[in-house]
Amino acid sequence: MKIAVFSAKRYDREFLSAANAKAQAGHQLHFIDAPLDMDTVAVAAGHEAVCIFVNDKADAEVLKALAQGGTRLVALRCTGFNNVDLKSAAALGLKVVRVVTYSPYSVAEHAVALLLAINRKVHRAYARTRDSNFALDGLMGFDLHGKTVAVVGTGKIGLVFARIMLGFGCEVIGYDKFPSQAFLDLGARYVGAGEIGARADIISLHCPLTPETQHIINEETLARMKRGALLINTSRGGLVDTEAAIEALKSGQLGGLGLDVYEQEADLFFRDLSSTIISDDVFQRLLSFPNVIVTGHQAFFTEEAISTICETTIQSVSQFATGQALSDEIKI
Ligand code: NAD
Repeated sequence: MKIAVFSAKRYDREFLSAANAKAQAGHQLHFIDAPLDMDTVAVAAGHEAVCIFVNDKADAEVLKALAQGGTRLVALRCTGFNNVDLKSAAALGLKVVRVVTYSPYSVAEHAVALLLAINRKVHRAYARTRDSNFALDGLMGFDLHGKTVAVVGTGKIGLVFARIMLGFGCEVIGYDKFPSQAFLDLGARYVGAGEIGARADIISLHCPLTPETQHIINEETLARMKRGALLINTSRGGLVDTEAAIEALKSGQLGGLGLDVYEQEADLFFRDLSSTIISDDVFQRLLSFPNVIVTGHQAFFTEEAISTICETTIQSVSQFATGQALSDEIKI
């Protein structure tokens, strides 16, 4: 099959080509640096499949243009699919696949990295010691041992994160719309959504972005949190109302924020803007806090995860090409 791979970075080219060769799939990969949107969709004409990532746009208009150009399969090389209009895809007869499981460890471990860095001020210590400043003022953290950690969304990634936190000696509580026995079996327990804020010293978000979860962290829920609690978001930027989080950071209600995702990240992430003036004032305000760390949607970025993502994507395209059932199809 001819596959148009949008938002293609060096590592996408390397790992997708390797997966294509390893499976002897023989697909023709056409790598396109630019993201998929109405300006670039014409490039996909004549490709039966497009392969897209988290910030590519697959709304009704783009999907219609894809279908008109002969595309029949949209293969997401990620887990989340909030950027695809599934109803429009179904109406147009386009199949949509994603990578259901690759490495939940990659994302859960990155959430832990953000938590440890924020709590123990590793980012500040790193900058200080490079400047021969070995003073400790301002670097005090707290023991994670004995603290209460809330996991919102106890699916694959949330479960791994919970297990790691239990290893630190934390009490782990969780909230999920669809509670699982696996979470209880770890020795964690579920609480009501309203109880999370009142009980947790640390909250980590691992649920998908849906209309229901949009801005679940907002002015009201932030006000209900324990004063000084830490918030980690490695899921999707839209879960957090960024401006409300900024107000909570200013007042000290929120004690620290570790973000791998950001509401308006499509305009920023996955490119080098170091010689550019960033016009997003909300983002720049976030970066000005000493107790905020932002990474640019890199939680998934481990060798193991990328290999699996690319191998699964090639496998899905091959399944489609040979008329097999699609094991990772998103159905509505
Ligand atoms: P998953 O489907 O295994 O788990 C998601 C969990 O959220 C499920 O248990 C589900 O029941 C729960 N959930 C759904 N709606 C909810 C609601 N309204 N309130 C509370 N819980 C709800 O998914 P996963 O593999 O664990 O991934 C979780 C999220 O992580 C993805 O949706 C994606 O947005 C994000 N993610 C981020 C990166 C990254 O690089 N930063 C990489 C992969 C995934």
